[in-house]
Amino acid sequence: EVRVRFAPSPTGSLHLGGLRTALYNYLFAKKHDGTFILRIEDTDQHRLVPEAYDTIESSLREFGLNYDEGPSTTSSPFGPYIQSKRLPLYKEAAEQLVDSHMAYRCFCTEERVAFLRKESARRGEIPKYDRRCMSLSAEEAEARVKNGEKFVVRLKIDRQDVHFNDLVYGSITQNIDESDAVMLKSDGFPTYHLAHVVDDRHMHISHVIRGVEWLSSAGKHNIIYKAFNWKPPQFIHLPVLLKSAGKKLSKRDKDAFLDYYTDTLGVLPIALLNLLIRNGSGIRDHDINRLYSLEEMVNAFDPSLINRNNLLVDQVWLQRLSRLALFEYANFDREVLPFIRFHVKRIIPNVSQQALSREHIEKVFNFLREKEEAFAFGSHISEANFRWLFMIGEGNLERVLEEFGKDENAKQSCRKLAESDVAWSDLKGLASGIGWTAPRLFAFVRMALIDTKMGPPISEIVDFFGLEHCIQRMKIVEK
Ligand code: GLU
Repeated sequence: EVRVRFAPSPTGSLHLGGLRTALYNYLFAKKHDGTFILRIEDTDQHRLVPEAYDTIESSLREFGLNYDEGPSTTSSPFGPYIQSKRLPLYKEAAEQLVDSHMAYRCFCTEERVAFLRKESARRGEIPKYDRRCMSLSAEEAEARVKNGEKFVVRLKIDRQDVHFNDLVYGSITQNIDESDAVMLKSDGFPTYHLAHVVDDRHMHISHVIRGVEWLSSAGKHNIIYKAFNWKPPQFIHLPVLLKSAGKKLSKRDKDAFLDYYTDTLGVLPIALLNLLIRNGSGIRDHDINRLYSLEEMVNAFDPSLINRNNLLVDQVWLQRLSRLALFEYANFDREVLPFIRFHVKRIIPNVSQQALSREHIEKVFNFLREKEEAFAFGSHISEANFRWLFMIGEGNLERVLEEFGKDENAKQSCRKLAESDVAWSDLKGLASGIGWTAPRLFAFVRMALIDTKMGPPISEIVDFFGLEHCIQRMKIVEK
């Protein structure tokens, strides 16, 4: 039975690498009629961000990656799915390792451990704990525990070669030469290494699918499995996400986080998901000229095709996918309408209700769809060639009058434009008739119609709003 888990730490909002891991776990589970699990790994209490528990869940929901088992599923046999609620389990596991002599209690103070580290650094050696506490007898250790002394549990790690197989990276040999790793910390919390092994075992995880940054620890994880005498799951490590050729996408980059894409840049979820399956993604006969729905991804998914090509987060490509999503694939009422409303309100805070109406947004949508240069990202609405589409109705009259109103000529041209459609067909003539340059008149008309002097040709504005609407605007300005 296939059971996979996405196991983020709640240290902030999800990043793109996390979404990629979640997506591949999801596809893998669905492909095999298996179970997709969300497990929150919050044993590092210092890095916790309390809101992150919710943002992780809401992000998964937003991207349609709904889990079968996780924090909010009730009555699942393997829960709870938040590690801080599973502490007794890790303690028991650590005791099991101590009892079987695979691990030992270490009472050394942090100062001593820090000193050892400094000493080995001075000698240019790998920092290693010197195993002083390994030789304590069981009785001695028990007595010190009873005495209330603080301790950690360390796994004995002898220098060794570890062999294991990764379904993407192939057969791996790691030479392990490191300190006896801490499994249980002195505050009773497990380390990530212990907790995730114990949980993967208890939750019957069949495949561990995660970012390649964990591959270097996988040797150690195999040693932990061996210490328990457990069979490790299959490993599938996924290649790096690149920001540009040769540069990794790092959590320090603002464009590493999902809210940058969904809120700031303005990309529909399905477009971003399609970016994440782009190359070497395990999609059979991947047709890059179209978008795949989640369901289509599942159908075309073949994990044996996942390769080690790093995944470039290519903004130009994303732009293409985003436009496709918006204008070809998304459902207008469910996705497009709320999406455009969200970004228009964000960009033009005092936008009129009329501009936010379904009718108007549909009009904008159909207008842009016909054009070669439609916007791709929600944030593009701020650009001069799109922003005006939402500038209808209120708020701009005062500014027109302020800029041009004291001019008798302005009033005159206004009157002409308000009276008949003839004047509209020869704006240049109208300009020279009142002794204005054509650009001045164009700026004036734009200002009256869309609250900005610079912008698209007047003909385009008239084309979009309709001549009748424009004449009405002039009547209002004239008064
Ligand atoms: N908690 C780890 C993370 O935040 C999960 C690593 C794993 O999947 O084993 O990435």
